[in-house]
Parts: sequence; structure tokens; C-alpha cells
Amino acid sequence: MRVLYVSSELYPLVKAGGLGDVSAALPPALRRVGVDARLFLPGLPAFREGLEDQEPVVSLGAAFGAFEVTVYRGRVPETGVPAYLLDAPELYDRPGGPYVDSEGEEWHDNPRRFALFGWAAARFADGDWRPDVIHAHDWHAGLAPAWLAAQPGWRPPSVFTVHNLAYQGLVPAQRYHELGLPGYFFSVEGLEFHNMASFMKAGLYYADQITTVSPTYAAEIQHPEQGFGLHGLLATRADDLTGILNGVDYAVWDPATDQQLPVAYSVDELAPKAEAKSALQREMGLAVAPDCPLFGVVSRLNEHKGLDLALAAIPDLVAAGAQFVILGSGDPELEAGCQRCAAAYPDEVAFFRGYDEGLAHRVFGGADSLLVPSRTEPCGLTQLYALRYGTLPLVRRVGGLADTVVDASPTALADGTATGFVFGPATVEAFREAAERAIAVYRDPGSWRPMQQRAMTRDFGWEQSAAIYRDMYQRLAPQA
Ligand code: ADP
Repeated sequence: MRVLYVSSELYPLVKAGGLGDVSAALPPALRRVGVDARLFLPGLPAFREGLEDQEPVVSLGAAFGAFEVTVYRGRVPETGVPAYLLDAPELYDRPGGPYVDSEGEEWHDNPRRFALFGWAAARFADGDWRPDVIHAHDWHAGLAPAWLAAQPGWRPPSVFTVHNLAYQGLVPAQRYHELGLPGYFFSVEGLEFHNMASFMKAGLYYADQITTVSPTYAAEIQHPEQGFGLHGLLATRADDLTGILNGVDYAVWDPATDQQLPVAYSVDELAPKAEAKSALQREMGLAVAPDCPLFGVVSRLNEHKGLDLALAAIPDLVAAGAQFVILGSGDPELEAGCQRCAAAYPDEVAFFRGYDEGLAHRVFGGADSLLVPSRTEPCGLTQLYALRYGTLPLVRRVGGLADTVVDASPTALADGTATGFVFGPATVEAFREAAERAIAVYRDPGSWRPMQQRAMTRDFGWEQSAAIYRDMYQRLAPQA
């Protein structure tokens, strides 16, 4: 089974969110269950520099405003996964992020950059190596299924995975011609969405199979509240839509081997976690207080992530004895809110504005509880990391958070299944109430410690999900 895994992110070379982590971990997991998965990546500078053993394999000539498009074959360092790189210097070779420039503005030529990406993925073959299935990820790769549908004759089946429906890749109608697709694709029965071309809708409409990254999110996106205007289409495709939970790469995320932590600890040797906590308190300039419940946040800061709910509750929770470490960046208003909080409570609240992998690890290790109060959350990875680090997640009951954290209700505490704290409505009150419950349980080590142990032994590794993807590919391409 040969699968072309089309993604514009790959940790640690290019990562804007969870997609980067998933693209780093799922292809090797697929290879371990017998799938010949190979990555297909845009020729961003970090990939040009970071992939090993690159050699040109296919020349595609001039396309989408690029003078010469060439596909290189290389390998991902460490995992050795084969990766094809779509080199088109005019479109990809520039400083800044994969989707936005260094000012945070979308690249003006994104329509052509990602139209080329989908077009090239759909027609790609490397000599004898032809994919049996094309697996496209998020809007960036959404035109691959559309280009496949535009091809006459036989074509490989396609899978489109939604990592986040909130980002859709919308192109104004007057720029539709830049995508190069047939005119009749620009229709309600196609990729038209409120008089725009939607890369996301292209994936959802034309792919043979749709997946998303948790079972609850798969159900939620068929309804208006979480459907971002695409719920109607998704509901009509319900038979082809499944939710497959993301996994964790425990080679990277394990407190027993994590080089970023000042100490190692594990479920059998939990005591050193206290040192990780005091080191984090020192590093962030908080009062070094072993008995204060310390809440961590590692997140993009935007409306979807619900950090405003936490910020509004912080004064009460500080009064109740809690501390907070917030690592993140994003909306200027939320950043300013975090800054104000940290200034108001210098011993209890610390804010690091920015993106810092090492600090993220130290927050997962050093905090007692991780806050993920998202309004929408396709799967969420940070709560999965937190579980493994014995840092009990406090989450909203939405998307993948609902699938992975068991609330410390009286019943779950009694029958020994609780792994965190879950609240329902996206309100400050509901959040505060859950945080107060977390503080109360924290102060009762006879309840907290067994919850930590249970959380740390929950297995969210990739093996199970990889096998589900493999079975899906086999159903789509039984001859492979
Ligand atoms: P999303 O993809 O919506 O951002 P996920 O929870 O799926 O959310 O994935 C987020 C990933 O990005 C996690 O690996 C998390 O640790 C990481 N991350 C988010 N913000 C930061 C930050 N400020 N510094 C370091 N890592 C971060």
C-alpha cells in the first residue's frame, strides 16, 4: 500500500500547530504497520535545508507562475521517512512562515502557492512509485482531491483530513482563475463557498473519504455551532466521514526521557516532578511554593482556544491560592490581557509571550494541571502530553478534549477512572467552578496522586490509529 501524505507542515522543520506534530509521527507509524507512506511537502526553506539526501526526481516545467517546478526526493532526519519536496523558488523560497509573512499577513500569492501544491500532488509519480492513495491534509492540500476529480480516466482514491475546520483557505471569486481548475468546479456543487473559492470545501467535496482527528469533532462539525458554514456539506457526507484520534509520539513526549526537563520522572518514580515544578517556578519568576496548585497553559492565543475564560477567572483563583504559567502568542488583545495579569500578580502569574518548544516541555512537566478551555478543539495534543506528564488537564467538553479526558466527577473518582477536570458551557463561571474543583482535589493527595498515576498510564500512542488509517486505505484501494 503506497500512500502519498500531502502536508505543508512537519515538526520540527515547519510547525504552525498540531498538523506539524501529526505529520512527523503518523507517517512513521503507518510505515510500522506496513504502509509505504511518503511525505509530499512544499519547498519551504526549512525543508530545503532540513531534509537529507535530496536528489531531483521529476521536473514539472513552468506552472502557477513558477519558472521551473522540480520534485526532489529526500528523507526526514531521524525517522528516515521518504519525503518529496516540491521546489518552486518563486512561490516557496522566502523567509517568514508557511502561510504568513513575518508581519503575520497572509502571503498574497497563497492561492497560487497552494494550488500548485494540490495540482502537483494529484499528478505525482516517481518512476515506478505511484501512490495507491493520496492523503491530503487541511486546506493547504485541499485542491489535491479536486485536481484528482478533474483528471480523466483512472485516478487514485483520495482521503482528506480536517485538522482544523476554522481555517479554510478562501479565495475571492475574481482570483479563481489563479487556481487553474475548470470553471465549472466553481459552483455550490463544487468548491464555491459564499462566492469565494474554498480550499477546505474542495477537499471536503471531492475527496473519496474524509477524516478528522477525533470522533467527537467528526460529529460536531456536522452541526452549525462547530461547522463553520460547512456543516450542511459535511452532514451529506456523513457516510464517508470518520474521526480517528490523533496520537502522541512518546519518543518526544515522555517525562522519563525528556531532555528538556531538569529531572526525569515516571509513573513509578513520581517524586522528582516536585523538582520540575520548583524549577519552573524559579525560571518564570514565580514564588517557589511547593503546595500552590500551579496551572499551565501552552497554546496559541486566540478566541478558539478560550483563554479569555481563564484570564477572567484568574483573580479569584489566585485568591484561592493558585499560580499560573502561560506560554503562548497570538491575538494582541489576549497577549495584553496575559501581560496585565502577570503585572498584577507578579508572584502568582507568569506570561512568556512567544513560541518555545523547550519551555513547553517544562510547563508540561512542572505544572500540576494544564488548562485547555477551548471553544472548539479538533483533537488537541497538549492535553494528551499533559496526561503523560501527570499534569492533570482541565478542559472544556468539546472535540477531542471530550474524547480523551475523564472528568473527576464523584463517580469517576470513586471508580478510579478520572484523569482530569471537564467543564461544559464556555463561560467564566463554568471554567472557574472546574478550576476550584481541581484545586480542591489537588489539596487531597489521596485523590490527586491516583489520578496522576492513571493519567500517566493512559496510552494515546499512534499504533492503534495508524492501524485504523491502514484499514481505511485498504478499503479504498483493495487492489494495492
Ligand atoms: P493547535 O494545532 O490548534 O494549535 P494542538 O493542541 O493540536 O493545537 O497542537 C498545538 C501544538 O503546538 C502542541 O504541540 C503544543 O505544545 C504546541 N504549542 C502551542 N503553542 C506553543 C508555544 N507558545 N510554544 C511552544 N509550543 C507551543
